[in-house]
Amino acid sequence: MQITSEEKRIQGISFSEIAEKFGTPTYVYDTDVIRNQYRKLKEAFKDINIKIKYAAKALTNQAILKVLLKEGSGIDVVSLQEVELALKAGYKPSEIMFTPNGVSFYEIEKAVEYGVVVNIDNLPTLQKFGARYGSSYNCCVRINPHVKAGGNEKIMTGHRESKFGISIEQVNELYQTVHEYNIQVAGVHVHTGSDIKNIDAFIETMQSLFEVAKNFKNLSFLDFGSGFKVAYSDDDVATDIYELGKKLSEEVKEFINVYGRQLEIWIEPGKFLVSECGYLLVKAELIKPTPACCFVFVNSGLNHLIRPMMYGAYHKITNVTNPKGIPTLYNVVGYICETDTFAGNIYIAEVREGDLLIIHNAGAYGFSMSSNYNSRFRPAEVMIHEKKPYLIRRRETIEDLLRNQIDVDL
Ligand SMILES: *Cc1c(COP(=O)(O)O)cnc(C)c1O
Repeated sequence: MQITSEEKRIQGISFSEIAEKFGTPTYVYDTDVIRNQYRKLKEAFKDINIKIKYAAKALTNQAILKVLLKEGSGIDVVSLQEVELALKAGYKPSEIMFTPNGVSFYEIEKAVEYGVVVNIDNLPTLQKFGARYGSSYNCCVRINPHVKAGGNEKIMTGHRESKFGISIEQVNELYQTVHEYNIQVAGVHVHTGSDIKNIDAFIETMQSLFEVAKNFKNLSFLDFGSGFKVAYSDDDVATDIYELGKKLSEEVKEFINVYGRQLEIWIEPGKFLVSECGYLLVKAELIKPTPACCFVFVNSGLNHLIRPMMYGAYHKITNVTNPKGIPTLYNVVGYICETDTFAGNIYIAEVREGDLLIIHNAGAYGFSMSSNYNSRFRPAEVMIHEKKPYLIRRRETIEDLLRNQIDVDL
């Protein structure tokens, strides 16, 4: 296959080299992008005591967790398994924020044993927590501010009907419970969902959090969750992180003045840190013109990247090995026996059988939401770090599919 010199490279390494060395389909992560995003956030919030807690569920590979740890990040986790992954990557328990939702009390007890920060999102659990630990273990409480923020209904988590958090209309019961058991509330938390474009929505949420926070006298942090949006297409908007940083910092400083003691401000970006670092590198296996459209079948499917089918998410796709080809209209689909359209009706430089395509913005909620549906192997993961490619997860084999199955003699 003729490859032009315009081929896109990551830190000097071309996707064809990656494909040749590691095969396809493969998730490829550029750690320069992660580090730049992290530093941008630090810069945007430099006027306040900001602590970034990377939301691990976006991309949980140990190597990525370590890159962020090295940058100085803390971590936000949502299951005991993610607690264990974070500990294994080297995060200190005090740097791990555990935000499960509606889990068995056993998970809370385990988290306390691990010594991580426990974020409680409902009143029954808070009561159990109070009865069990009283004032002996600090906790954080998650508030549902009843704000409709976020890209679409599927990713909103802070509206009145949402299952998440303690309703802002139930804060009196919250104060009562805290008082009754002398619970030490060290932090208050909100997370209203993904893809927030509107800065005023952030500020509105923050103000409801202040209203609750002022009723707790011994806080050490406020946690504003996430929702920091990245651009998915060329004409899409991202959260203006600098403007948000400026506005948020002013409000925070004012609140701290009134509150009368220093507070750390925690944020929990997932997508913002790792979405743009990632590409799903696939191969075009078949070009199929039909009376309706022209399909490009690639060697992947919704089992590897479910966001287009699950959220209607747009992911840009480009042809790496024929970048100068004539822009042509395609539907890019996968090999799963379901409709698994990665992108419909998009222009891509002419795709030939065997061309390599990259699906952009695939770092967040890509591999971490992948599955073995249709008994397909999950992709390999490769990280480009300081100009070197590292295989950070090998491609699966049939042994992986059979590993936990128990053979029965029939
Ligand atoms: C998922 C999640 C995040 C991260 O959201 P992004 O949109 O990826 O930034 C942060 N905090 C909590 C509690 C979450 O569940």
